[in-house]
Amino acid sequence: MTDIVSQGARFGAAGLFRLPLRVHPEDDEPILSLLVRLSEENRFTKVCSFTRLIRLPTAGIHMVAERPVHLAALAAASGLTENRLQYMQYQRVSSTHVAWLGRPIHRSLVHSKHRRWCPACLEEVPYHRAAWDLLPIGVCHRHKLALACLCPACGNEVGWPGKMVACRCGGDLRRSPHRPVSESAAGAVRDLLEWLWVDAERGAEVMVLATTLGWLSNQGRCEPPYKRTLRQSLDRRAQDLEIGWAALQDWPDGFNEYLNRHFPPDRAQWPFVRWLGRRYQGPLKGEMSAAVTARSLAAGRSEHRAKEFCGPLHADHPQ
Ligand SMILES: [Zn+2]
Ligand SMILES: [Zn+2]
Repeated sequence: MTDIVSQGARFGAAGLFRLPLRVHPEDDEPILSLLVRLSEENRFTKVCSFTRLIRLPTAGIHMVAERPVHLAALAAASGLTENRLQYMQYQRVSSTHVAWLGRPIHRSLVHSKHRRWCPACLEEVPYHRAAWDLLPIGVCHRHKLALACLCPACGNEVGWPGKMVACRCGGDLRRSPHRPVSESAAGAVRDLLEWLWVDAERGAEVMVLATTLGWLSNQGRCEPPYKRTLRQSLDRRAQDLEIGWAALQDWPDGFNEYLNRHFPPDRAQWPFVRWLGRRYQGPLKGEMSAAVTARSLAAGRSEHRAKEFCGPLHADHPQ
């Protein structure tokens, strides 16, 4: 580690460490990305050298993303408020949900241990986007590229080794191959992220439904639950989302047509078909009907399309 004390780092009145160089967090940046950027900016060779100083876990820093940790020392070091830092965490808000950019979302949808990234986004502005931590998302809708999840040099999964654009082996993540996706796959992700932003609970539900429908249609058989889908490859996931999202257009006609096509009457008693029917043809039908229509999406867009985004449409985080 460089001698950062001689660079102007100091310990404040409460004995809390303060970094000489500050970093401005992006609106849709999760806390692990901030830790890495602070560490890099201040010339630490490893993130754990920095987290040790501020009393955060030194082993497995991905735990900082989701576990309750004391943020006072990080707040003092970074010059950010604890509220702002908490917003960047995926902390549990109930037994089933975590907060994703302040929005409650089922915890099975969020994964931050291993990184996924769009090489073009990293090239433009090198920080990690919170949308990349959502498991059903396999596409950058801005660049219409599939997300990468393996280092282009060593072929391994990439954790949080201490460099925003590099793997532990030194491989440059911005050099990951560009794998274009269809217009409709990118559109599905853009629409679903917008929905998630406006109404997290329902948006997440529809995201899961779309992924599940796409997966089922590809499988040609009936096997719940959607969690299996989430472990599949990113390419496959992007395709699933695209197909499932298409099935949800023109609600409920498109959905009924999807059911008829993939689940003819002789399969009506399959457990998953019954589950799907109960869940989405029953009590949710009215709400889905209102929510899935192009009208409500269009209304949401005109109201919230403040700026192009990967995660949030506009900043609503605490200062
Ligand atoms: Zn991108
Ligand atoms: Zn590597």
